[in-house]
Formats: sequence, structure tokens, C-alpha cells
Amino acid sequence: MIPEVRKPHECLILAYHRINESRQDALSVNTRLFRRHLEHLLETGYRNVTLEEVAARIRCKEPSPGRCFALTFDDGYRDNYTDALPVLKDLGCQATFFLAADYIGANRPFPWDVGRFAWVGPADYAMDEREVGALVDAGMSLGSHTCSHPLLATLDAPRVWHEVEQSKVTLERRFGVSVRTFCYPAGSLNDGVVACVARAGYVAGVVTPPRPGIPETLFTLKRVGVYHGTTLPRLRLRLNPLYSRVRGIIWEWKERRSIPFTQSSTPVARHHIQRTREPGGNERPGGALEVLA
Ligand SMILES: [Zn+2]
Repeated sequence: MIPEVRKPHECLILAYHRINESRQDALSVNTRLFRRHLEHLLETGYRNVTLEEVAARIRCKEPSPGRCFALTFDDGYRDNYTDALPVLKDLGCQATFFLAADYIGANRPFPWDVGRFAWVGPADYAMDEREVGALVDAGMSLGSHTCSHPLLATLDAPRVWHEVEQSKVTLERRFGVSVRTFCYPAGSLNDGVVACVARAGYVAGVVTPPRPGIPETLFTLKRVGVYHGTTLPRLRLRLNPLYSRVRGIIWEWKERRSIPFTQSSTPVARHHIQRTREPGGNERPGGALEVLA
């Protein structure tokens, strides 16, 4: 049984996916807006910390050193290197990049992007080894997002173990770094999956966004999802302690009323179900689409 934690509310873990100026879909945050997000956090007294540091403080029950934020990126899109890294370096920020090991250098689109956009090109693929290496050289952390980005709660135990453990081994061998944090693809998890992540040697796991029924533990740390529509005013609202408090009360109320996630008959949490629209208003026939990433 993994003990529940109480993360200081001053310590935010932000969850980004893509940073670019060409896409308008829900997972893409405009590069200039991303810079403004970080500038705002730094200017208003938030200190950038690593996800590992957050986990270590929670593990040791150390209080947060004032307001702080950790940055995370899911999936390993190429624009993490082309657009996010220059901003991070310029502002002296550190981040954790959750990579799906099978896609690094694979030179093909993520399956959920096929048919979602009118066109998909190399700029929409995962990073290659050189690009991930540049992140590492710049002091960024790598985390695991499994090997093949499956819905873990739908797999049998040996397959879950392979995805969780082998991705760690693969990334560590390829990039010569320690991979100590884990992110559940599409938030799909159950007790067995979480226990597997703890057993594989990770120090922390993250989910996003908070959803009812998941107790927050070191292996289910809740993040704040940042999406295309997260304008600076919306981010400011999210940072407002009163807003956070009201939101927390609502979540607690929902959690008390919810079925524990381990008993749920639907193992898949669609934590990233987003409507998407192409630049110029193109949409796949049939209207708005959903993406699970
Ligand atoms: Zn993902």
C-alpha cells in the first residue's frame, strides 16, 4: 500500500505536451505564450524546481521552500526540442520530459495524430536521439512514458511490467541518465499498475489532471494540465490560492462521492480527451475529434 501524500499547494507540477506556433490543437501551447507563462511564474516569486526535488521533499516530509513549480512535458514531441528547450534555457528553467521509448527516433507520427490533422509531418513526430541528447546536455531530466504508450490498465501484468521496466532500462542505456519518474499514458492506471511503477525503481509517478477517486501518493502526484486555451489570465486564475482552495474542496467532495478507481469497471481514464481543430478550421469529417495522449 503506497501511503497518501499531502503536497503543499504552493508546489505546482505543470503538465505540457507540445510547444509550437503552427498547431492550434488542444495539446499545443503557443511558443510565445509558453514563455509568458514561465516569465509570469518567475516574476511573481515562484521558484522553478525539478520533479525529483518535489518528490524528495514529499518523501522526507520537508515543507516547500515557498512557492515553486516543476515543469513536465508528455510524449516527447519534436517541438519540445525546437521550441520549448530554447525558452527553458533562456529563462534558466529545468523540466522533465516523459518519453515513450519506442517512438524516439522512429521517424513516424504518433498513432493518435494520424487522421487528427489534415497533414502530419516530421515536425509532429517524436524527437530523435540527437535531440533528446541535447535536452540531457542542457540539464533536463528524462522520465518514462512507457515503451509504446499503451493504456496500462487494459494490459495483463507481464505486459505492464515490460512497458514500465523496459522503458526505464532502454532510456537509461540510450541516454546514459537515470530515469526516476514515470507518467501514465492517458492517465490509465489501477492499483496493480501503480504498484508496478513503485517496484520498478521509480521515485515518483504523475497523473493529470486530478480526477475523482485517485488518492494522491508519490506515485500518483497530481499535475495542472496546461493546454492551448490556457491563456495567461487563466493560468493566473489557476495560481490564485483562493481558486485552488475552492477547486480542492470541490475535488475532495467529488472524491468522497466517487467509486474508488480500483473498483471501477472502466479501467481507462481519458485524461486528455480534447477537441482539436486544425489551423484554418479544418477538421476531420464528422466534426470535432478526440485525442488521447
Ligand atoms: Zn501521453
